[in-house]
Amino acid sequence: MTGAAASGRGGGAPATSASAVDTGDLETAALETAALAAAQLEAAIRAVEHDIADRSRELVALRRDLHRHPEPSWEEHRTTAVLLDRLRAAGLDPRPGPTGTGVVCDIGAAGAAGPAGDAAESPGPLVALRGDIDALRLPDTKDVPYRSEVDGVCHACGHDVHTAAALGAGLALAEVARHGAGLPGGGRVRLLLQPAEETVPGGARALCDAGAMDGVGAIFALHCDPSVEVGRLGLSAGPIGSAADYVTIRLKGPGGHTARPHLTADLGHLVGRVLVDLPAGLARLSDSRDGVNLTFGMVQAGDAPNAIPSEAVLGGSLRATGRVSWQEAGPKLQRLLAAIVEPFGARWELDHRVGAPPLVNDPWAVGVADRAARRVLGDDAVEPTRQSAGGEDFSWYLDHAPGAYLRLGVRARGAGAVDIHSSAFDVDESAVALGASVLAASALCALHDLA
Ligand SMILES: [Zn+2]
Ligand SMILES: [Zn+2]
Repeated sequence: MTGAAASGRGGGAPATSASAVDTGDLETAALETAALAAAQLEAAIRAVEHDIADRSRELVALRRDLHRHPEPSWEEHRTTAVLLDRLRAAGLDPRPGPTGTGVVCDIGAAGAAGPAGDAAESPGPLVALRGDIDALRLPDTKDVPYRSEVDGVCHACGHDVHTAAALGAGLALAEVARHGAGLPGGGRVRLLLQPAEETVPGGARALCDAGAMDGVGAIFALHCDPSVEVGRLGLSAGPIGSAADYVTIRLKGPGGHTARPHLTADLGHLVGRVLVDLPAGLARLSDSRDGVNLTFGMVQAGDAPNAIPSEAVLGGSLRATGRVSWQEAGPKLQRLLAAIVEPFGARWELDHRVGAPPLVNDPWAVGVADRAARRVLGDDAVEPTRQSAGGEDFSWYLDHAPGAYLRLGVRARGAGAVDIHSSAFDVDESAVALGASVLAASALCALHDLA
């Protein structure tokens, strides 16, 4: 997939009978077709920018509404209803996601199709835009009028911004599809407003399993990045996020008196060994070019200083920057646990909840987003971004189609950065409309390339 626009399906058939058709005429016709497509693309980008600028107050109001009413993973019922209502009001035919929350909505030539719809029958290309809609179980400590009204739940990862931006892009693209010359190449755009990004396994798997990526030729998503100033975008090809799994280890033994550890299985001692030797052993068994990092965040064992416990629990997250190391980590954890724990007479259980693979941006899709972002934000607004150790289930979509994950600048100019997953995280809200425009323009540029 190189995205060579000039040689796409819309470029006309090659000359099979050179004697009957003048090659020069064909070349002229192809150039005219390409020029027409480029002009249509430019007009469509101008139209979505205009539309999104006009509805920027509405998009910020939607973002604030979602922020006031955050819902954690798999519980996004109100959010889903709000999105369905808004898309229906625009004359579209959105469907709830396959798990009951989240929304899938097709925009353009073939009208609305379901997640496993008729993409194969549609003559034009199909591009997906993904927004995630869930919030975190964190208190909101900000003093703002749109502060969370739900105790202990907060949009501290900016998914309210992603949702409003994706919806704004979809509404603007729907206007272009309806009133303008249509979407480039007679194509369609599929909004995937997915639930449960913040959990393992995330909502992306359910959408992929339901066929939401069938026929999709490219997919784009953005995520708030407080290290990037508003009006700018972080974008790089290649690995950009890491695999993130949950690991829970349960150690069991008979328990007993601390005076006689030799007569029991000393779980205090074994907790220490597992804490130190399991991450170290895993690193030694993995290719150091594909970093694997097991970090414990929870350790529970024992009630009294003079009693060896009969059970201990350790919980942590396993992160990997490379797909092979990630796929091989599970069996290695089992081998190491057996070697560490069993000689001391204790038993172990491993609950390895596999998350999403490392996120790898496709070079062609990054080129598309780069063009779109420079067009919308300005030529010097795109900056390179590094691979994060954070997990992101957007990577599952990239098993089905090339795509790009964009880091949207949300830090107010001159302000300090407050990280995502912090109770005080907030954004410069002008990022909502800018994000919508970048997403919409990326979809248009991708359709242009794929046509
Ligand atoms: Zn998050
Ligand atoms: Zn997030």
